[in-house]
This record gives sequence, C-alpha cells and structure tokens, in this order.
Amino acid sequence: MFSKILIANRGEIAVRVIKTCRRMGIKTVVVYSDADANSMAVEMADESVYIGGSPAAQSYLVQDKIIAAVRQTGAEAIHPGFGFLSENPVFAKRLEAEKIGWIGPNAFAIDAMGDKISSKKLAAEAGVSTVPGHMGLIEDTKEALKISREIGYPVMIKASAGGGGKGIRVAYNDKETEEGFPAVKAEAKAAFGDDRVFIEKFILEPRHIEIQVLGDKHGNCIYLNERECSIQRRNQKVIEEAPSPLLDPETRKKMGEQAVALAKAVKYDSAGTVEFVASGKDKGFYFLEMNTRLQVEHPVTEMITGVDLVEQMLRVAYSEKLKIKQSDVKINGWAVESRVYAEDPYRNFLPSIGRLKRFHPPAEGKLGEGEVRMDSGVREGDEISMFYDPMIAKLITWGKDRDTALDVHGEALDRFHIEGIQDNIPFIAAVMDEKRFRSGNITTAYIKDEFPEGFQGVAPTKMQETQLVCAAAYVHTFCDRRAGRISGRVAPAGAPRQDWVVILGDTHHNVTIDISEHGEAQIAVDTGKPHSLVTNWQPGNHLVEGVLDGKPFAVKFADRTEGYLFRHRGVALRALVCTPFVAGLHERLPEKPKADTSKLIISPMPGLVVSMDVALGQDVQEGEAVCIVEAMKMQNIIRAGAKGTVKAINVKAGDSVAADEIMVEFA
Ligand code: ADP
Ligand code: ADP
Ligand code: MG
Repeated sequence: MFSKILIANRGEIAVRVIKTCRRMGIKTVVVYSDADANSMAVEMADESVYIGGSPAAQSYLVQDKIIAAVRQTGAEAIHPGFGFLSENPVFAKRLEAEKIGWIGPNAFAIDAMGDKISSKKLAAEAGVSTVPGHMGLIEDTKEALKISREIGYPVMIKASAGGGGKGIRVAYNDKETEEGFPAVKAEAKAAFGDDRVFIEKFILEPRHIEIQVLGDKHGNCIYLNERECSIQRRNQKVIEEAPSPLLDPETRKKMGEQAVALAKAVKYDSAGTVEFVASGKDKGFYFLEMNTRLQVEHPVTEMITGVDLVEQMLRVAYSEKLKIKQSDVKINGWAVESRVYAEDPYRNFLPSIGRLKRFHPPAEGKLGEGEVRMDSGVREGDEISMFYDPMIAKLITWGKDRDTALDVHGEALDRFHIEGIQDNIPFIAAVMDEKRFRSGNITTAYIKDEFPEGFQGVAPTKMQETQLVCAAAYVHTFCDRRAGRISGRVAPAGAPRQDWVVILGDTHHNVTIDISEHGEAQIAVDTGKPHSLVTNWQPGNHLVEGVLDGKPFAVKFADRTEGYLFRHRGVALRALVCTPFVAGLHERLPEKPKADTSKLIISPMPGLVVSMDVALGQDVQEGEAVCIVEAMKMQNIIRAGAKGTVKAINVKAGDSVAADEIMVEFA
C-alpha cells in the first residue's frame, strides 16, 4: 500500500480522507491556502504545504503548485477529493506522465464522462437508457425551437459542460425556449468557458437517483446500490438518503447493471457515480451524467453497505484487485445525510459568512435507536470564508429503517449547535418532520412545492413553548443562585428569587419556580397548575435535557446576553428571562425606529460584485435585477425592493463589498 499520499483539497473532505488513511497507516500531506492556514485538515495531516492565496485559482486549482508539493514531500499519489481538480482529465494525464499516482479513475474515463453530451452518447451505446432528446449540440434559437417542439414540451435546456446545478433551464413552451436557450448559452460561457448547449425531455415528477460504482484496474466493477438525492434547492442537493424509497429490487438491479455497463465501457477503475433521473410517475429511469470522483453524499452508501469507499479508492489506485463481489453487497438499514450550509434559511438562504463563535456538533456513535456520523472540517473559532463553497459539515444518521433514521436525524439536529453565522439546521429539521417528506413521495421540486414562500420557521406547539419557558426559567434561576454563592460576590438580599417573567415574542409569562436539591423543580406558568421538571443540566452545557411532566425533552440554548435562544426541530424561539420589575420597564420602553432602507440596495453579505446592471438615472421596477454579488461560488441576484430612479451607484463590477454596504441609492 502507499506509505504517503497528498490530499489536493480542503475542509471536510480532506479530513474525511485523512481519517481512512490514519486507519490504514498511510501518512498524509495536505496543501493549504491562506484562508486555510490553521484549518482542521492542516492540524490533522502529518505534513502540510502552503500553496498560495485564498482564491482557488491561486492555490487549489494550480497544478504546478500541487505537483511541487508532491515532489517536496515525497508523496506517492494524490487524492483529489471532489471539486477543484478532481474531474480534470488534463491533470490526471499529467500525473501519469510524471509518474505520480492518482487516486481516481483513468484520464480517459474522466474525459469521456466530463461532457454531458458525449457521455450521453456513450451511455446510449452501452445500452443505458437516456433521457429522450436531441443527441447533438444546438447552434441557434431557431434550431432550439424546432428541436424543443420535436421532443415535446416540457424540455430541459442544458450546458454540456455544466455542473453544480448551473447552466440548466426548463422550458414549458416556445416562449420559454426562446428566452432560455440564449440564457443557458450565456451562463455556460461565463461559468464554464464553454457555450455548447443541448436539449432533452424534462422528466415529470423527477427524482434524482444515483448508483455508486466501484471498479479496479483488472476489469472488475460492481455497484453499491443507490442514493436518492431529490431534496434539492436550485438543482443543488441538500438531503440525501440510501436506499431510495422509490426503488424495488428489480429496478435497483436494472439500474445497477446499466451503471456497471457504462463504467466498464470506459474501463472505470475507481469509485464513481452514475446519476439518473427517475420518474415518480412510472418508475422509468434515464441516465443524466457520470461523476468521476468521490461524491459529497458517499457516506450514506458507506453506512448501509459497511464499505469504506475511500479505502477502496486507495486500494484500486494501488492496483489491488477488488475483493468485494457483487453478491457481497447488501443493504443494511437506512441512512440519511444532510448538508449543513452556512446560509440563512429565513432570508431566502442567503450565504452567511463569519466566525464560528460556537460549534458543537452532535456526538458520533449511538443515539436513540440509531447511529450518528459527523463529517466536518471545522472547529469552534474557525472562520467560514467567502472563498469556498458554503457547506460546513455533513450530518449522517443511520437506523434500521427509514423512520428510525429520520427520527435520529431530528434528534441529532437538536443537539447541533452553531453560533456566529447563520445555518440551515432549522430548515433541515423542519423537513425531517414534514409529512410529505416522511411519506417518501418526493421529487426534485419538493422544496419549491412545500416551501413556496421560502422558510418561515415552524410554529411551536403549546407543549414546546411550555418546555422552553420552563427550561429558560430553570437555567436562569440556577445561575442566579450560583452567582449568589460565588465567594466575593455580594449575595442577593433575602431568599433566592423565585418569580420571573419569561418573555416569548410578544407574550409575557409569569413564572414561579421552586428548585429542590437534586435538579427537580416545580414551575408554575401563568395561572396553570405547576409543571414538574427533572434535569441534570449544569452550567457550561448548551443543552438542557430533561423530563417535563413525564415527557422527555431536549432544548439547546445560547447567547445568554441576548436572552435564551431555543432551537428544537424546526422551531426557533428566543426567550428573555427577567424580574417582574424589569419586565414592566420592557413593556414601557419605546421601540427603536428602524432606519428606512427602502431606497437603498444593500449588500446582504460580503462578496464580489460580478455585474452592475443599472445606470445612473435609470428607472427601475420592483423586482428588477440591480446587480449580482458572488459569494461562496453562488451568484446572488440583488433585486429592487420597490420601484425608483437610480440616484447613486457606489460600486462597480470587480469591487469587493462588505455585508450591509450600500451599493445603490434610489431617489
Ligand atoms: P455532488 O453531486 O457530489 O453533490 P456537486 O456538483 O454538488 O456534486 O459538487 C461537489 C462538490 O464539489 C461541491 O462541494 C461543489 O461545491 C464542488 N464543486 C463542484 N464543481 C466545482 C468546481 N468546478 N470547482 C470547485 N469545486 C466544485
Ligand atoms: P449537474 O451537473 O449540475 O449536477 P445534472 O445533469 O446532474 O447537472 O442535473 C442536475 C439536476 O437537475 C438533477 O439532479 C435533476 O434533479 C435535474 N434534472 C436534470 N435533468 C433532468 C431532466 N431531463 N428532467 C428532469 N430533471 C432533470
Ligand atoms: Mg449532477
């Protein structure tokens, strides 16, 4: 086996690869940019090499620097992770010429699959069912219209070089093709430097189901079942699971065998994924593309098959023969992964950047009836920067069946605690409990269908409110008493305080609490009969676990300076605890008037201005695009909140902007 490898990546996937290497006794080298100088991957690797500035184009994408790092450290091979150079056939070829090992598929396979249109042709030749449509490139809008009509609406217009959900449009009629075709061409040119476009049928009730394949250099290839990744936002995956609730064993076998046929057609010799779109209507399935690398969501496959895919990649890269036979591959239980993104679900999923003031992921290992696995590459105190993609961690849970895996996922999310930046945990938690998601009747339009107005949070039940009020009062009383006992402090006069006002939103609750010695309390809320609370909560713990009136609960809280912030499943509530006197003052305090921002266009996050689409003096309608700001590889179109005339433009394309910076002013 290799004795030392270099990981040409960062973040959670670099950490993930290091974990397997440590287990196998392989030394690791990571490369890092300025932004990653103190990263967890750098800390965990045996060696690290600095390769340049924070933008990927100055570091992780510079082939010469990575090869120099290999030479400098004597690493025998490179694991590319995903993204960056992982699907670059030129790089793979170059390593071959320079006699450096490549922990990925051969360059020919990467090249053949790198392009959606040529891979589709190859797939069709290998007997794989492909999406009905035109198998060639399309030159102009006139031809696009003719082909769209031949295929029959709705159709999907796609960039052949597309990836990451970019360069894709659905058209339901001629007008949408007329608009969509040039738009996709332009987007493809800008994002991939390649404006080749094709058109295929849009599959109704589409579900994204993909097959994990694994091949070696001796002609063996197997499939490790499927993953369903239908929960997507803007064609980007958010929640993935394995197996798929849609597939029966026959369909699974058919899909798996077709995926293997395609892999064999390109002598595939690593871990890879064949993506299909399946129709919820008739269970038909069609080839989409092949990703010639390890996939973000590979852990769900590992959880149900027990196979460590990184280990297998290392072994086959070292020319070992695959030891796993198709008949060895089983499905054990159910696994679910969610991608924890640095974004604000309450503000239309705007990217969020900053320092992780707190980062407490749930503990790995057994939880309830299942298992928790955390793949993350950050620690408390780390910075989430604008330079890379917004994924900060992946939570994976396993259970004996789907319901158990989802229940455990919700439980684990309740234990996940992040402060300092916004995260999408409340949103994922809401999905975990949502009826349609639970039923398994999902499509790629699920988020659009179920959250058409975006995410507003989940309304708490009466019982949850009571749990939050009681837990806040308990913690507050506990700390109040403890403060009184710390030597050197002036003890509060008289008996410890027992009556508080807990403010939840606009509602004031009068609370009387009586704590006994052993973490038991009687808590009266308003005029109701007292609740009994039992907990072993201790100061310093961000999680209050206990039993209220015989029912177990767990709530996390944070940020005591601004009150108690409770998050439970999709519910997020802030509670203020104060004395009745202070509560009275609160009610009398005038609300601070908000600044009028209706005439300003403010950058919602730090980023780079990609384009300024208005000019001085221009009349702009409500909803019209004003400019585009890019952060974390996402382009955000900033739109006018109301109609107005442009009075001042403070930034231009290429400028960096800070959060809340005023970019455009209206008269
Ligand atoms: P998957 O199907 O595995 O989810 P994605 O297309 O979402 O694949 O990409 C996988 C990862 O690689 C993501 O973290 C994404 O941000 C990153 N990525 C995708 N394309 C690129 C690229 N061209 N350069 C760098 N990173 C990329
Ligand atoms: P990317 O390279 O960005 O991952 P894909 O071709 O894999 O692009 O498509 C991204 C997503 O778009 C898929 O996961 C699927 O949900 C949806 N999609 C792609 N092609 C079709 C189609 N023909 N019909 C319906 N949905 C599709
Ligand atoms: Mg894809």
